[in-house]
Amino acid sequence: MSTTLTVISHFHTLSQVVLDEITHTLLIDQLSIESYTDKRLSPRAHDFYFDISDLNKARSTIKTFSSSTGRPYDIIIQPSATRQNKKLFVFDMDSTLIYQEVIELIAAYADIEDKVAEITTRAMNGELDFNQSLAERVALLKGIDATNLWEELKEKIVITKGVRELTKALKRLGVTMAVLSGGFIPLAEYVKGELGLDYAYANTLGVDEHKRLDGTTIGTIVNGDRKAELLLEIAGKHGIDPKDAVAVGDGANDLKMMRTGGFGIAWNAKPKVQLEAPACLNTDSLQDVLYILGYTDEEINQLLK
Ligand SMILES: [Mg+2]
Repeated sequence: MSTTLTVISHFHTLSQVVLDEITHTLLIDQLSIESYTDKRLSPRAHDFYFDISDLNKARSTIKTFSSSTGRPYDIIIQPSATRQNKKLFVFDMDSTLIYQEVIELIAAYADIEDKVAEITTRAMNGELDFNQSLAERVALLKGIDATNLWEELKEKIVITKGVRELTKALKRLGVTMAVLSGGFIPLAEYVKGELGLDYAYANTLGVDEHKRLDGTTIGTIVNGDRKAELLLEIAGKHGIDPKDAVAVGDGANDLKMMRTGGFGIAWNAKPKVQLEAPACLNTDSLQDVLYILGYTDEEINQLLK
């Protein structure tokens, strides 16, 4: 199978030492590649092209290689044929499109950070699943005045570096885009508007007759399973083959949508997520996703004009 391997530096350049390490240690010694061609995408990103019979095996070799010494670059392997076929991108929101976790912003707003953090810790220890931890955290929000809540939180949201450029370029390429968030709809809608996305899905908080949060959510919970379903729903609506969809996220509840689409990118994710995701990106800009799709700096500049 014709395969592409992309190396993206976490810094400004990829040195010759790194490229030699990739070609000698990884390609020749570990993957037993006898011949390859290559191309520079940018001072920070480099492509290698070769034929390989077992992509999954190569991917696991690369994961071991990448994690063994904490190398300051990411290595992404994918079939060459489908690399630029992407028709749909679905993004997680918290710690992916934005730097923050919305539940923590609300907790800070209501001065209940300690209580929310305690539930987060229990969830991370595996004591609570996503739905349980969401229900417990939302219950803590009961009584908060919702009148100005969302407007105040919108001011606090910081869009992740490179996201505006990435979404602008993808839009130019005719890609359909969605934010699928386990957070809350007013902010997901806001992010959708800021970035010109096509869809926003997230959870809805119940409000009582005095415009105070009632401590519940309304409707279907957006969790990992629902994110994967939504990917399929949106793809179906646009006649897009799910194989041409890419999911981008940082959390364990993003893994299922990554597997449901044809490709997934773990963005500065937890180790467990990095281990299971099709690709990992640990740089400081989501614009680097465009290197994964094979665009050179020159092409990216054209797309962003
Ligand atoms: Mg997240």
